[in-house]
Amino acid sequence: MSPASLMTELVDPRTFLLVANLLGFFCALVLWVQQRSFPDDIKGLGDWAAAVVLIGIASGLSSMRGLVSDFLSIVIASAALLLGQLLLIVGLQRYSGKIPRWRPALDGIAVVVLLIIFLTYVTQHYQGRIFLMALAHIVLFSAGAVLAWQARPSGLGSRFLFLFFVLGAGVAVWRITTLSGGITENADSFDRNLIQQIFLAMFSLGVLGLSIGFLLITNERLRAELEFMATRDPMTGALNRRAFFAQAAVEWARCTRSRRPLAVLASDIDFFKKVNDTHGHHVGDLVIKDFSRRAQQMLRVPDVLARFGGEEFTILLPDTGITEAKQVAERIRQEIGTRRDPALPAYTVSIGVSVAQGKTGDAADIEALIAEADAGLYRAKQGGRNRVEG
Ligand code: GH3
Ligand code: MG
Ligand code: MG
Repeated sequence: MSPASLMTELVDPRTFLLVANLLGFFCALVLWVQQRSFPDDIKGLGDWAAAVVLIGIASGLSSMRGLVSDFLSIVIASAALLLGQLLLIVGLQRYSGKIPRWRPALDGIAVVVLLIIFLTYVTQHYQGRIFLMALAHIVLFSAGAVLAWQARPSGLGSRFLFLFFVLGAGVAVWRITTLSGGITENADSFDRNLIQQIFLAMFSLGVLGLSIGFLLITNERLRAELEFMATRDPMTGALNRRAFFAQAAVEWARCTRSRRPLAVLASDIDFFKKVNDTHGHHVGDLVIKDFSRRAQQMLRVPDVLARFGGEEFTILLPDTGITEAKQVAERIRQEIGTRRDPALPAYTVSIGVSVAQGKTGDAADIEALIAEADAGLYRAKQGGRNRVEG
């Protein structure tokens, strides 16, 4: 008994194919619904929904070989299958922010379909046709695997997609080996039909796996975007007040538990009203963004920069004593006071510094520590601005 016949003892390939395709259509429906409710910048869901439907139709037509015309079950089915696969890749490209290049891919598919017509009606070369299609699958699935590997976020969804694209290419390689291997595929044999059915069923199942992978990755991105929106100030990308306090609570607990110092810098741009009045609100916004970006560049990875409102930023420096914190503040003050962008007016910043050492005599809580830094900031303003006070 051949391996293919053995498999039919376990499952009927036609039933298997039907179930896989039905599940595929459900997946397409979910993809389509998600496309309508997701933010516009998460692209590709519509392409994937269409792709899954096209591939489902293709494998359905292909499985009806003998029942419908060869033109439908071979030519149209092959074209739909390749277009469906191309849509998977296009969708992934769009998702990754790339602009898909349709033309060369469509030309390639047109050439393959013309060759299929030739091999079907002129030479009646069954094996050549299977070989050609398998080759096209390998090319398309490999392209998909590369895109999936690069797709962000690189979590479970991306790995899932990569795995199923590689499996798809693997199945196509297996299909070629069934042609060149010892298995005979005479035109009318039962085995030949069976291998093709199993191949189609595996294909449909693979597309199901891919759809799940794509749903996973789009949901991961949505989650990341929502998290970003909930924790960031939209204008500068710095943390917002709420996210700052969440991080500060963790650092405060660490400071009091392990008696490691924790520093806070309270900063406010000097004479900012004048920037707005002289250059306009838009330039004022650019100055705020400029400050946020340059201050962030001067911080270490564990440091936390948050926009508390207007042109006021609060910075948390874990594991930093008073001397070092004043040095950091001084470096920021000097850098900001140096005009780097000729498109922006020169401006300066005042900074107040406070430190808790995890000892008695410290501020009672993080709010009190911030109030101490604010008091320093007030003194810096009183003292003439463009200065650091601790
Ligand atoms: P000081 O040196 O004492 O800090 O003087 P100042 O003029 O900077 O005074 P203050 O800090 O009170 O000024 C804050 C101004 O920032 C008031 C408000 O109009 C402006 N502002 C607040 N948010 C924004 C914003 O998002 N964009 C712009 N362009 N201006 C803002
Ligand atoms: Mg100010
Ligand atoms: Mg202010």
